Amino acid sequence: MMSGAIFLDRDGVINQLVYNPKTKEYESPLSEKDLKIIPRIFRPLKKLKKKGFLLFIISNQPSYAKGKTTLETLCKIHKLLHRKMAGKGIVFSEYFYCYHHPEGVVKNYSRKCLCRKPKPYFILKAKRKYGLDMQQSWFIGDQDCDVLCGQAAGIRSILIQERRSKNKRGQSQPDAYVGSLDEAVGIILKRNNMRS
Ligand SMILES: [Mg+2]
Ligand SMILES: [Zn+2]
Repeated sequence: MMSGAIFLDRDGVINQLVYNPKTKEYESPLSEKDLKIIPRIFRPLKKLKKKGFLLFIISNQPSYAKGKTTLETLCKIHKLLHRKMAGKGIVFSEYFYCYHHPEGVVKNYSRKCLCRKPKPYFILKAKRKYGLDMQQSWFIGDQDCDVLCGQAAGIRSILIQERRSKNKRGQSQPDAYVGSLDEAVGIILKRNNMRS
């Protein structure tokens, strides 16, 4: 039987957004010490696993391309996140990161790429590789680009109304708005006709 997948954005969904005084915006963590996992996400993620969903992270990480940090640091942050999640029993099937940015400053990473959300590249890659049931699959994010990415791949989407990314929403029509990941999982199980 084909599995459904839950594609999760990372920053603002799995880990907290971090205030950057230089840009005066909430952004992705730029160092390991800035990585704080959002509380109360483990139980809903475990519930999804128990229901047979595969879990994926799809995340734009343009900080290196923009000259804000090194690739090595981004890699360290990723590994720490993986350890923290695995330590709580949550293992993702795969992490998909786009390190590009169309207006970056670092050569080779500053260009229009195929993989940056809202492009559906990584979802379609996962679909082929894992033989996913797209009818059962969802994207959960906190920004318009997450919703648009899911819609471009033909799957449903849920927008978490995270306070710190409020200015990155309002130009998309998700299938549902929620206040937490727990709430998102409740909606997914209900609309997929699965018992919670
Ligand atoms: Mg986000
Ligand atoms: Zn890319």
